[in-house]
Amino acid sequence: MPTSFTSINPATNTPIATYDAHTDAEVDARLQRAHEAAIIQKSRPFEERAARLHALADALESRPDEWGALMTREMGKPLSQAKGEAEKCAWVCRHYAEHGADILSHKTVETDAQRSYVRYEPLGTVLAIMPWNYPFWQAFRFGAPALMAGNTMLLKHAPNTMGCAEAIEQLCVEAGFDSGEVQTLRIDEDTVSSCIADRRVQAVTLTGSVGAGQAVAQQAAAQVKPTVLELGGSAPFIVLADADLDAAVDTAVQARMQNNGQSCIAAKRFIVEAPIADAFTERVAATVDALTVGDPTDPATDIGPMARADLRDTVRRQVDRAVNEGATIAAEAEVPADTDGFYMPPTVLTDVVPGSVAFVEEIFGPVASIVVAADAEDAVDLANDTQFGLGGAVFTQNIERGEQIAQQLEVGCAFVNSMVKSDPRLPFGGIKDSGYGRELGAHGIREFVNVKTVWVE
Ligand code: NDP
Repeated sequence: MPTSFTSINPATNTPIATYDAHTDAEVDARLQRAHEAAIIQKSRPFEERAARLHALADALESRPDEWGALMTREMGKPLSQAKGEAEKCAWVCRHYAEHGADILSHKTVETDAQRSYVRYEPLGTVLAIMPWNYPFWQAFRFGAPALMAGNTMLLKHAPNTMGCAEAIEQLCVEAGFDSGEVQTLRIDEDTVSSCIADRRVQAVTLTGSVGAGQAVAQQAAAQVKPTVLELGGSAPFIVLADADLDAAVDTAVQARMQNNGQSCIAAKRFIVEAPIADAFTERVAATVDALTVGDPTDPATDIGPMARADLRDTVRRQVDRAVNEGATIAAEAEVPADTDGFYMPPTVLTDVVPGSVAFVEEIFGPVASIVVAADAEDAVDLANDTQFGLGGAVFTQNIERGEQIAQQLEVGCAFVNSMVKSDPRLPFGGIKDSGYGRELGAHGIREFVNVKTVWVE
């Protein structure tokens, strides 16, 4: 067990702060507080839960600059995107404050009983294992519906974003939550295992890599505890020959490069119908070449550093392997010279074919892979030729055809003429190796509840 966690500014490779790991006794005390708070939460009326979520949204909206700066400092996303993330967290809190009670109200079902209905009761304490890439959003995306449903939350955040974890806990205290309702756990994987096994934890959710999801889900299954897994993706972005090329190019670059290329739903494989492949590639390459890479606090910056040196090195190696396999680098933006920051040049790869690294593996960094499809049918086949199934997009001016293709994509979220994005009003999640269960929407708030049948004769 490490004794502390140090967050490093990825733009400069300098330490920001060190956080002591929780001792076994502290972990036990936190589990107990969560358990006791869960008993109180269960009978707390919806109006009170909603009022707390509104207060949390107020706290987020009152100082987005502060939360944004913290995220940028710890993981390097451009400051404007980080502020936007804080604002989106406020949105998800308000969404569930306004709609949660309705979604979770008793549903009467006509049977031969005198009265029969379905109740949605909280499960208790949910352990949330979260990554660094959207250090606020990932926690709120799970937390807002889970709290509205009457659960309590233990947040095991990524070791490099412990400052964000602390801020989230403090925000909840400021918003009037009881001390046991939202707590962080500064722990390593071994202690995560004992928490999963602890009888005071009723369920587990994880956002992260496929390997992490497999490890955690196995442990939870051994305890017969439910899990939601939101894992990686290699989202296809299909561009048909009749697409509005301006819109497709602009959205393609944004969909790939936002968050410094570190997003599970980022478009990763650009599958382009042959007649427009050259034009699309040229324009995407020119746009990527012109991106400004640098200090994420500078408003002129499009792309900041990657979050950790090892993540940057992994992406570099993937690009090298792709080139060895025959891919061509069509664009490579400049990165700042004379810096110790973890910069990876935004890159465009062409000549990417099925079975190759850039097609098969998730590249979790600012690297776009362009694949040429013979026709729309071939594009769909290529899109579905992957272990992942999180999101996918198709660009075409024929909306009906676009919708047909959206329905054929083996993904949890399919978009026509738009990049894949999460929205509190709609369910979000994947199939295949991208995980299971749903967050957000009406489905998300029902993941961690006991769907209870009541029959009165
Ligand atoms: P991980 O999946 O290793 O980490 C995500 C979270 O899971 C962290 O809190 C991590 O904590 C925890 N975790 C990992 N393994 C275990 C385990 N066996 N038991 C308990 N908790 C665990 O991601 P990395 O940060 O190492 O990034 C590696 C790759 O993961 C990326 O390149 C990307 O492909 C993918 N990823 C996907 C994300 C998504 O949004 N779907 C987000 C982040 C990463 P700890 O580090 O303490 O183990």
